[in-house]
Amino acid sequence: MADFGTEDWRNRFSDAMMHTIAPPLAMLVRGEGCYVWDDEGTEYLDFLAGIAVNSLGHAHPDLVAAVTDQVGRLAHVANYFASPPQLELAERLKRITGTGPAGRVYFCNSGAEANEAAFKLARLNTAGGRRTRILTLHESFHGRTMGALALSGKPAMREPFLPVPGGVEHIDATLAALEAALDDTVAALFLEPVQGEAGVIDLPDGFLLRARELCTRHGVLLIIDEVQTGAGRTGAWFAYQHDGIQPDAATLAKGIGGGLPIGALVTFGAASELFQRGQHGSTYAGNPLVTATANAVLGTIERDGLVENAAHRGDQLREIITGLGSPLIAEVRGRGLLLGVGLTEPVAQRLAAAALSHGLIVNAANESTIRIAPPLIVGDAELAEFERRFGLALASL
Ligand SMILES: *Cc1c(COP(=O)(O)O)cnc(C)c1O
Repeated sequence: MADFGTEDWRNRFSDAMMHTIAPPLAMLVRGEGCYVWDDEGTEYLDFLAGIAVNSLGHAHPDLVAAVTDQVGRLAHVANYFASPPQLELAERLKRITGTGPAGRVYFCNSGAEANEAAFKLARLNTAGGRRTRILTLHESFHGRTMGALALSGKPAMREPFLPVPGGVEHIDATLAALEAALDDTVAALFLEPVQGEAGVIDLPDGFLLRARELCTRHGVLLIIDEVQTGAGRTGAWFAYQHDGIQPDAATLAKGIGGGLPIGALVTFGAASELFQRGQHGSTYAGNPLVTATANAVLGTIERDGLVENAAHRGDQLREIITGLGSPLIAEVRGRGLLLGVGLTEPVAQRLAAAALSHGLIVNAANESTIRIAPPLIVGDAELAEFERRFGLALASL
């Protein structure tokens, strides 16, 4: 299988790729279902799914068929034109997000771009200049572009690139901080329903409901970042649905495309009227190829009951992890198939490396959390294999 030696690709990577990330863990060449293989033929059980992207796993026949069919028909047109898959996806997103007739969809190409669009939306909610503040949470992650960096509550990520767009304040994820910060001078509140990059941190009980209440009272846009939690991953189409609330806007990406780059901003009610013609756009956004693919991904999730599977398998996975009885495991956080294993010691990097050497892909979301986000198609066989491989990794530390 290998066309070149291990050291060679590492050197080529170092010589050709911008040094924005750590050296890669392996050279992956093929995937099928919940498994991927490297250039030496080593098999890995993929319980990260490209960070909650490969909803249907790898090389799913529906994904392959949708891409193949659409790329041979019409891949891209300028956004002076509509295409059938684009309209179908916009209508589908309105339905599964629950916007009702007043909802609108703006397509883009990534999570950061969806949040950039939402940032601009927030800037339009000025109430005649009175609303100047945008709130997000400490430790939140909304992407790496300048606007998304301004929104993200991670100062170290932002610091080398200052100044970023202003007007953003970061607050603690507590009811007290929420109540103290929200008033009529706030344009928008951005929230992740589960803070994925922060280490799969759940919001406190009642936080989302109280946020909805206060945002409605003060005319603040509640913007929910569902980039990591959306598309069924937490056992609901979108995580805010667990609380029975509706946001004013939701940002989507990752899992809706199943591997092709697509993002979206979905607005509810009056927020749908804020953008005026010519105020935002993107060349690739919502092109026929990516929207046809997202239709296939979301259609398969729906047809095969994968939202329910995420809820059910998530419960089983939780039990498996707890059942391993390792003294290294302090708690399991998250929801559905987005789980964070909180460790009693800061050894997440070592544990993730040990897992990889036992043929299991998971990731260290921070120094004491392992993030687990398998494809939504995961079944009994994969869970049993996970139990075995994660158990070996834990025991080897
Ligand atoms: C990954 C992520 C983003 C950024 O998405 P990109 O596609 O990498 O730009 C934004 N918000 C959340 C919650 C994410 O998990």
